[in-house]
Amino acid sequence: DPQLNQHYCFDNFIEGECNRLARSAGFAVASKPGGTSFNPLMIYGGVGLGKTHLAQAIGNEIKRNLPDKLVIYVSCEKFCQQFVDSLKNNTINDFVNFYQAMDVIIMDDVHNFAGKERTQDIFFHIFNHLHQSSKQIILTSDKPPKDLAGLEERLLSRFKWGLSADIQVPDLETRMAILKKKMYTDGIELPDNVIEYVANQIDNSVRELEGAMVSLLAQATLNKKEIDLNLAKSMLKNFIKNTHKEISMDYIQKLVCDYFEVPVEMVKSKVRKREIVQARQISMYLAKNHTKTSLKSIGAFFGGRDHSTVIYACQTVEDLIETDKKFKAYVQDIQKKLKIG
Ligand code: ADP
Ligand code: MG
Repeated sequence: DPQLNQHYCFDNFIEGECNRLARSAGFAVASKPGGTSFNPLMIYGGVGLGKTHLAQAIGNEIKRNLPDKLVIYVSCEKFCQQFVDSLKNNTINDFVNFYQAMDVIIMDDVHNFAGKERTQDIFFHIFNHLHQSSKQIILTSDKPPKDLAGLEERLLSRFKWGLSADIQVPDLETRMAILKKKMYTDGIELPDNVIEYVANQIDNSVRELEGAMVSLLAQATLNKKEIDLNLAKSMLKNFIKNTHKEISMDYIQKLVCDYFEVPVEMVKSKVRKREIVQARQISMYLAKNHTKTSLKSIGAFFGGRDHSTVIYACQTVEDLIETDKKFKAYVQDIQKKLKIG
């Protein structure tokens, strides 16, 4: 199946406290798709923690156990795009029939359904059809179903039918095991203290952990050096500085207000003057893109506004970036300062 990536399997998915439930539920589903109460199986957790890997591993394991099963892996984004295309081309029936014929559907990142009502409607029908025929549904998401904003209630209630299992940030031991496994697979040997150092420094995402290691290896190769702890320390400093500096909303607010020469209190107030609104909207936009804060908390921070105001602000800024060159330059300028700061 072209949608499944063979590289992602259970063998190279390291088990830890952070993913134990999700992993074992996934394994159960893989040996009996549609035949457990874990339907749908919803895997949720932050960025770069292994949701796609695990979801793909389930699909690959099903194909290994039961080669005749029709398994489709699709990102929510791609599904939405396909739906729009099928509307345009008048092929909705084909689109729906294709998905309803599957034995297993794996849909990645369902939080991306937010706001897409028509696609949600179609998926609701596909979901019901598959579920009624005991076909397996596997979903991933960045939040648990109860916190998914912008999704229709009836779809959310179905997402809660089966099992929701989270993946959390791996502990140090698991992070080291992941790195060791990866090194082993790539045929690379590194001293334990280097692996421990990297795993200690990067503690928020497996993707970044791997990125740090790749960058370290690449630099060592380029400079024709053996990697030891000192080299790792000096080389990772940059990587960590670039990816790890926490940007706070206070800092964003100060920077934006300085830039446009507006008082900080105004941004948090109800004032609707043009330049204040602009500073407020840009601040929200930057907070959304440069911090891990939820839309709800961003709204609360900038004067007790709700999350829809934040969405609207971000949309406005994005539109202006597209259409107004001067505005775009402003935003880029502030973004640059944000990163150097
Ligand atoms: P997500 O979909 O949650 O953003 P991914 O599944 O894309 O995250 O994982 C990011 C990277 O980390 C991938 O290269 C993946 O193989 C790796 N990874 C994540 N968790 C594990 C794990 N438990 N064992 C081995 N590799 C992992
Ligand atoms: Mg993913």
